[in-house]
Amino acid sequence: MPEGHTLHRLALLHQRRYAGAPVAVLSPQGRFATEASTLDGRVLERAEAHGKHLLHVYGPDLVVHIHLGLYGTFREQPLPVEPPRGQVRMRLVGPTHWTDLRGPNACRLRTEAEIDALLARLGPDPLRPDADPERAWARISRSRTAIAALLLDQSVVAGAGNVYRAEVLFRHGIHPLLPGRDLGRARWRELWADLVDLMREGVRTGRIDTVLPEHDPAVTGRQPRQDPHGGEVYVYRRAGMPCLLCGTPVAMAELVGRKLYWCPTCQPEA
Ligand SMILES: [Zn+2]
Repeated sequence: MPEGHTLHRLALLHQRRYAGAPVAVLSPQGRFATEASTLDGRVLERAEAHGKHLLHVYGPDLVVHIHLGLYGTFREQPLPVEPPRGQVRMRLVGPTHWTDLRGPNACRLRTEAEIDALLARLGPDPLRPDADPERAWARISRSRTAIAALLLDQSVVAGAGNVYRAEVLFRHGIHPLLPGRDLGRARWRELWADLVDLMREGVRTGRIDTVLPEHDPAVTGRQPRQDPHGGEVYVYRRAGMPCLLCGTPVAMAELVGRKLYWCPTCQPEA
């Protein structure tokens, strides 16, 4: 599933390409056809992301809420448009480019009140300048739940996914099963600040890189990572491979249905 930096990159792209001018909105597949006809020819006011949610704002009660889920994608090309291929839920045509949305988990027209309710359910998003990490700490500090599970709970922190949570815990030497309430506020603030830095870098580059410069393949001489997710990481999807710091095989376990990766030496229990 895409992590928050992907949604923020899409929001920036859509803002640049489509906002401020009338756009054509269509639903070749038909499942968004009624909504598309309401929006067609209107000016897209702005595109913004909150965690893993993307909003296209056409007016106070004309907000398209998109959640890509596991399979959703946007594909963009310069004009001219081409006939739709596959199940295109929403097509957006701007002055210079067009983009097709396929396979989203959600693509719905919402009112402002509905959007407010959606955002109220989300924890702070490290990529939003208005985010308040104390809101997340209020939840974490009262919880016996493992910090690794809390970091993926979108009502605690919005936007971090499986890669960022594994990597940020490694970078701070925190065992993933540490109960939230045992983390301590100072360590939470360090984790948060690191998430902000890492995810901003992800928005800038479009990939998730979490290794320090001294652990980069170009410096250490190891092979660059071969993984469709891209980016250089310490533990994510490296189960059984040696830790880049200490050589211990990276551990893997399932937690709340998601795979968890950590180094048993660098991230000791307690
Ligand atoms: Zn290690």
